[in-house]
Amino acid sequence: MISSTETRVIENIADIRVWRESVRSAGGADKPSVGFVPTMGALHEGHMTLVRKAVRECRHVVVSVFVNPMQFGPNEDFERYPRSFEKDLQLIREAGAKILFHPPVSQLYSDGHASSTKVIAPPELTERLCGQFRPGHFTGVTTVVLKLFSIAQPDAAYFGEKDYQQLTIIKRMARDLDLPVDVVGVPTVREIDGLAMSSRNAYLTSTERKRASELYKTLCFVREESLSGRRTLEDVLKVAGDRLNKMPEFSLQYLEACDPNSLKPLETTQTPMVILVAAKLGSVRLIDNLLVT
Ligand code: AMP
Repeated sequence: MISSTETRVIENIADIRVWRESVRSAGGADKPSVGFVPTMGALHEGHMTLVRKAVRECRHVVVSVFVNPMQFGPNEDFERYPRSFEKDLQLIREAGAKILFHPPVSQLYSDGHASSTKVIAPPELTERLCGQFRPGHFTGVTTVVLKLFSIAQPDAAYFGEKDYQQLTIIKRMARDLDLPVDVVGVPTVREIDGLAMSSRNAYLTSTERKRASELYKTLCFVREESLSGRRTLEDVLKVAGDRLNKMPEFSLQYLEACDPNSLKPLETTQTPMVILVAAKLGSVRLIDNLLVT
């Protein structure tokens, strides 16, 4: 365990439990006692917006930095996922979070993640959209989030709308399992040109980076065109998807307009709706979405 002046780094579960017990009665009626922001590190302004909101709204904030092997497929980027712990600690310290939980994989999966008990959310939420392209991914996410909830025992937990399907699934898990935690969604933080901030943006070449804002432009196009009523929703999605796919760097995985709660695909434009996209840009998989209210 390493200590800094304001942010304490904790690497094991037993120490978090001791800390959690020490703040058990510290909550007042006005604020949640413990706020929690789970991350995989390589922190950027998107993550920090969640952390700052948690710090404003809660008495104590725990941020976790854990690259969760269970949510990566065998051919995905677990090994090369960006890691920048010292910089992350500095950012978390500046934001005023009390605890940085940074466990080694062996703390969370002492017998390996493959043989661990798993949390399986309803397939109608997990098997569509990203689930089609990342089998087992959301089971890895729900399992680690439930474990982290069980360890940190937060009153409120903050997640980005950037990962809209993930947020929907976690809200559903909390409801279905009667977890005593308020799951709070936070709007997507974007670069100036509209690209949603993501740790994976660091993998983009400079040419790809210039192109990457086309993803957000596509979402905006679908929103404007579908709301205008000039074409059917199906046509709009087809035109927008084909246009993106024609750009040499892009390979579209999905572009859909869905009900924001059930994530069922829509046949006609409605409000509210969420437009979701995933595409590979070179070797980098990017996702984004736009909520239309
Ligand atoms: P990750 O480290 O990618 O697992 O992300 C940790 C949390 O930060 C998740 O709840 C993400 O949805 C959220 N997040 C990541 N990027 C952004 C962004 N650009 N805007 C808002 N939240 C984000």
